[in-house]
Amino acid sequence: MESKNYVGGEWVIPNGRQTVIHNPSNTVEEYGVIHLSTQHDAVEAGEAAKHAVTGWVNTNTAARGEFLLRAADLLRQRQDEIALTASSEMGKPISEMKGEVLRGIQLLRYYGAEGVRAIGSVIPASKDNILQYTRRVPLGIVGIITPWNFPIAIPIWKLAPALLCGNTIVWKPSEIASLSATLLMKVFADAGLPPGVLNLVVGEGSVVGRALLDELPLDAVSFTGSTQTGSSIATQAARRNIKYQTEMGGKNAAVVLRDANLDLAVSAVISGAFSSAGQKCTATSRVIVESAVYDEFVSLFQHEVRNLYVGSALDPKSYLGPVASASQYDKVAKYVEIARHEANSIAKANIQVDPTSGYYIPPLAVDGISVEHQLVQEEIFGPLVVFLPVQNFDDALTVCNKTVYGLSASVFTENLNNSLRFLDEAHVGMVRVNLETAGVEYQAPFGGMGLSSSHSREQGQPALDFYSQTKTCAIYYG
Ligand code: NAD
Repeated sequence: MESKNYVGGEWVIPNGRQTVIHNPSNTVEEYGVIHLSTQHDAVEAGEAAKHAVTGWVNTNTAARGEFLLRAADLLRQRQDEIALTASSEMGKPISEMKGEVLRGIQLLRYYGAEGVRAIGSVIPASKDNILQYTRRVPLGIVGIITPWNFPIAIPIWKLAPALLCGNTIVWKPSEIASLSATLLMKVFADAGLPPGVLNLVVGEGSVVGRALLDELPLDAVSFTGSTQTGSSIATQAARRNIKYQTEMGGKNAAVVLRDANLDLAVSAVISGAFSSAGQKCTATSRVIVESAVYDEFVSLFQHEVRNLYVGSALDPKSYLGPVASASQYDKVAKYVEIARHEANSIAKANIQVDPTSGYYIPPLAVDGISVEHQLVQEEIFGPLVVFLPVQNFDDALTVCNKTVYGLSASVFTENLNNSLRFLDEAHVGMVRVNLETAGVEYQAPFGGMGLSSSHSREQGQPALDFYSQTKTCAIYYG
């Protein structure tokens, strides 16, 4: 398979170099060819998006919604092929990947249905014979920049509301998810979107991503990825007075209190820390446990970790597969090396395939390091989790909030007062009781505090707020 760009309603091979990609579960296998774009390719996509603005703005919202519903049907028909391609490209286990595609279908249906809902309101005027109301109007041209770790759901949760609100788009997916992006683009194209409304430009962040921010006539940019890249995009967007939204990294904590259901907490921590090989912005990366139950919790956790099946992403038995790429492997392996020298290993899983056949990193849990240690403070984005014993609930809250991030946090307890205090005091955008650290359903707002987010929210109704602006209209009929 090969990637392609989609610009102005045409499939095109861009002008940059081409690279061969390998399946992270079996790196001997050449899986596809990526055609990288140049700055000029990105500029052409910007021009196509500009030409399409008027026609799309004048397409009524219900018709834009119908288009999303058609895309949902096509994605459902092609779900197996798309899940298989994404798993082979970036190593997410096939069962998880199928769940992610289903999430994409739900998002398309949700925003498709929004096309016939009220998207403005009448506001009573204080003078006679005046009808005053608000309408949502589009922003114009939106740049969308997405990461590789949710190659289908994250693009859809940006593209669907942006399209529904009447914007035209230049989308730059992660270079590591270019093949699944090409298939997803085909879903939108085959659903009958007019030329230029949605343009796909495959390529590197340093070339295409930069060009979007430097060269294109954007009115808004929505980015998901690392805090480092997001911060520089935010600075650049602010300089150009472009509306922006940056969803970034996390260092999420699960807090286990002495009265917790420990079996429930263990399985939630395992899933939170190790599904997707820990490569989720909401992954559990710190486990804060009251000392009174620390030993018992660790022993239950060790038992479960020993039973994890680590293998090819395409093997339905695999609980987790490899990490996504060579650079991701190198980054996580450095943290594992630091852990080997500076921390105490408390649990490690086995890999059920030849570990050298792909980018495999065995799930690992460590303790014996301070709250200030880099393994406790930096986003690792791999299957490595740090355990931190604390004396009581107050200490647990302090440690939980001692991070620059603020995406997701969970508490495990049967105590209502402590649950409510945690919901109040955990400094995160998504806070949970007796559930793993994770994102939220498609109809609920997703986002973080601190350096995890630019304080806007995705999914649900807030996405419509980001991709539109309000026009207040008044009519005198006296
Ligand atoms: P990344 O920042 O390396 O890349 C994200 C996207 O930005 C890619 O498309 C990349 O090509 C592009 N990019 C890179 N440099 C750029 C530049 N200078 N200008 C414009 N675009 C540029 O992140 P990644 O490795 O793809 O994804 C992993 C990160 O994403 C993790 O930090 C994770 O926490 C975060 N993430 C956050 C959320 C969330 O909603 N908060 C969700 C998923 C992933």
